[in-house]
Formats: sequence, C-alpha cells, structure tokens
Amino acid sequence: MNASPVRVTFLGSGDAFSAGGRHQAAYLVRGGGACFLLDCGAGTLTSMKRHHLDAAAIDLILISHLHGDHFAGLPFLFIEYIYEQPRQRPLRIAGPPGTEERVWSLFRAAYKDLASKPLPFALELTAMLPDVPVTFEALNVEPFRVPHQETEISLGLRVGVAERSILYSGDTGWTEELVTRSQGTDLFICECSFFETRKPFHLDYPRLAEEHARFGAKRLILTHLGREVLARRNEVEIETAADGLTVEL
Ligand SMILES: [Zn+2]
Ligand SMILES: [Zn+2]
Repeated sequence: MNASPVRVTFLGSGDAFSAGGRHQAAYLVRGGGACFLLDCGAGTLTSMKRHHLDAAAIDLILISHLHGDHFAGLPFLFIEYIYEQPRQRPLRIAGPPGTEERVWSLFRAAYKDLASKPLPFALELTAMLPDVPVTFEALNVEPFRVPHQETEISLGLRVGVAERSILYSGDTGWTEELVTRSQGTDLFICECSFFETRKPFHLDYPRLAEEHARFGAKRLILTHLGREVLARRNEVEIETAADGLTVEL
C-alpha cells in the first residue's frame, strides 16, 4: 500500500466552551512532505507545546469558518514566529471569504503595535469558495458549504494528501453532503457538539449514530465534543477524540 504514513493529531477536541477542559478545534496533519493545520482554535500553540510538536513545521493552515474557537489561535502562532522561532519562509492561510480581513483585524486587536509593522515572513491569505477545489503543492482541498452560520460561509473540507483523504466537517448541522463527501475517505473528523439538544447548525450524537452506517469513511472520529456528549460518553458507540490523540492513516 502507501509507504509513508499520514499522521493526524487532535490538538483540540473541545467545543467553543472548552467543555471538559479540552482545547478548541485544531488538527495537525503531517505526511507526504506536508505539515498543516485544520483550524486553529485559541489554545492551538499551547496544545502543540504540551504534546512536544513543532509549531515551526507548519506550512499551511486551513480554516473551516471564522468563529473564534476555529481561528483565534492565529495571533499566538504569529508572535511565536516573530519572537520564539523566527520564521522567514511564507505561511499560508486559507479559509472562507473574509478570512484575510478577519485574520488581520484579529491580529490588530491582539497585538496592535506588531500588526502595524511588516511581518518577518510572508503571510499568504487565500479565500476558498465552496465547490472550487484548491491545490497547495502536495495537497488537494475540496471545500464545500455546510449549514452553520446564516450569512457567513462555513466550510467542510475534504483534503487529499499522500494518497489518503480526510474529511473534516468543520462546524455544521446535518447535511447529506457529509454522506456524499465521506465516501472513500480514510478518516472522517466529525463535529459532535450535542447529545440531547438538537439544532440545525450543529450535530448531535443520536443523529450521527443513526446515520453512521451511511458514511463511507474507513474511520470516523467524533470531535468538537460538548458538555452533553462528555457527560454521556458511556452511551457513545462511535470513536471519540481526546486532546493529543494521534492516528496514522
Ligand atoms: Zn466550533
Ligand atoms: Zn462555529
């Protein structure tokens, strides 16, 4: 089969409220010469250091949507690259439309003086549009729109790297896209915010348990775990993530 493995580390398996003390959304993917993040929640750098992972190795950050628990960790990576591990090679960030403006306004809000000076590395910001595939060297990304925000665009991402494919739901309510896009994937990283609560803009465990058999992924791991899910974990029969979990594809 495929010689070089692809490793996915769950840096943050919690929701926006850091239920259970878990970090917010961030997943590190390494393999095929690529090192990238899927989302960058507020505690991303903390979690990388706790798990002895090298933040300097990141070349690309894919953002599913512009909620703080998915992108508020960026200013801390920027200051890491300014002071602690001075960086010269470019950093690429790709996210939904509006990413460039929101990333800069977040950095300005967090570190006004630094944000007013040129960065020592090139920051390349790219907008991803639903159903417009993008290629970043060894990576193929298929973004698609998911139901999570009313006006702004939230994306699910299907990523191909080193002959493996990963589906990441981002934050989403139920959509048949999850069934379609998961076919033939090696890993499906799926949000599971609720248990007893059912909302059109997040997923709940009973719904996922009901639809589980229709997904076409070799492995399904639930993440973005909220308080209700953690309280009833003994009833959950699908694999769940933990901060620091690394899986090999
Ligand atoms: Zn979220
Ligand atoms: Zn969200």
